[in-house]
Amino acid sequence: MRKLIALVLVVAVLGSVAFLGFRVGPPPEISIAPAAEMIGRRTPVTVTVSEPERGVGKVTVELVQGDAVQTLAQADGDQSPAWAIWRSGTPNSELRFDVGKETIKNLEPGTATIRVSADRAGGMFWSAAPEVKQVELPVRLVPPTLQVMSTFTYVAQGGSEAVVYRVGESARRDGVRAGDRFFPGYPLPGGGPQDRFALFAVPYDLNDAGAVMVVASDAAGNEAQARFIDKFFPRPLRTDTIRLDDGFMQKVTTEIMTQTPSLADKGNLLDNYLQINRDLRMQNMAFRQEIAARTQPAFLWREPFLAMVNTAIKASFADRRSYLYNEQAVDQQDHLGLDMASTRADKVPAANDGVVVYAGYLGIYGNCVILDHGYGVQTLYGHLSAIDVKEGDKVTRGQPIARSGASGLAGGDHLHFEVVLHGLPVTPIEWFDSKWINDRLKLKLGGALPFGEKAQ
Ligand SMILES: [Zn+2]
Repeated sequence: MRKLIALVLVVAVLGSVAFLGFRVGPPPEISIAPAAEMIGRRTPVTVTVSEPERGVGKVTVELVQGDAVQTLAQADGDQSPAWAIWRSGTPNSELRFDVGKETIKNLEPGTATIRVSADRAGGMFWSAAPEVKQVELPVRLVPPTLQVMSTFTYVAQGGSEAVVYRVGESARRDGVRAGDRFFPGYPLPGGGPQDRFALFAVPYDLNDAGAVMVVASDAAGNEAQARFIDKFFPRPLRTDTIRLDDGFMQKVTTEIMTQTPSLADKGNLLDNYLQINRDLRMQNMAFRQEIAARTQPAFLWREPFLAMVNTAIKASFADRRSYLYNEQAVDQQDHLGLDMASTRADKVPAANDGVVVYAGYLGIYGNCVILDHGYGVQTLYGHLSAIDVKEGDKVTRGQPIARSGASGLAGGDHLHFEVVLHGLPVTPIEWFDSKWINDRLKLKLGGALPFGEKAQ
């Protein structure tokens, strides 16, 4: 009987030793996800390794090109030892890194392999080879071809223009960059398969035409750039002073704060006003950038833009306003529209054919309508007393869409009118001017722009 017990014990011990000794973990699962299907200037890559049973150990990511091997990323995980049968290690490990010419100086065009090795949990006296997975990607270091087709590009600071250009087949993103602004390109209607155009502006606060260029980049981030501005007219911002008084601040803060529940009461009138003039103004601009993205890839208009008739211009585009309170400078903001005043609650006409993309209360603009005219061109109507359209409505040039008023950040009844290009307010007067549209847009875009044509 004792012999039998001893034998069972021996078998049990030998069995356990054999089990633990050879207890290797399952092979970890590896996934390699590059953000582009090629390597160029800088391609972000995410590598994930998972093994929930014994855990993920050391992971090494390398870039292999011929004999050259460079470590891209490394991580130490935690695997449970073979004898610790009650615990598991790190179930997942994620590595994020960039691969491309910006970080790997000796990168050559051709192909390159991203190789991932992940250690496999071993037994007490038996280890398993690491799990290896790799992907091969093309390496491209030359940008798409880019050829500017337009000539005579004359643009003023704060003004708009058009450019026609041709890109190579590898282009994935193209348009005009002006400082930190980007104006996307579109296929040129009626043009060849690689012909593109963009409506763009030199931002009102950018006085350097050298910062304006056509760009085209491929999936790997290689970017071609071309400068194309023939003449640039600097137009410095005008300066203006606004004197704040308690009556005005009381009127606007009460209305705007009740209409904008996200604003907290700062406890005093001036701070409440400044929160609106600064923070809410910035939030409203960010929201307008979202509205800009709702533009249609089509020219919805055929005639010059229309200004409100019989009005006096009370403020013009691109005024840098200093705000004084008790003779102290308390704020500075840019006014980027035309203020037009006539009689109270006067009819506000749609400046051109388009679609209503916003109709409602919008912070400093009060009751506000935004129309889309296609290819990034939108018009904004602020401080309205009444809105007669709703989102999605098609409107025609001259159609009354609202009544002027003094809602939002306004002292008296007037229309705040803006022409906006991909979210950036631009000089409206150009768009009212048939000759400007002909010379600056129609001559470049030709049949693509149905300007002056009869509606079908
Ligand atoms: Zn205004």
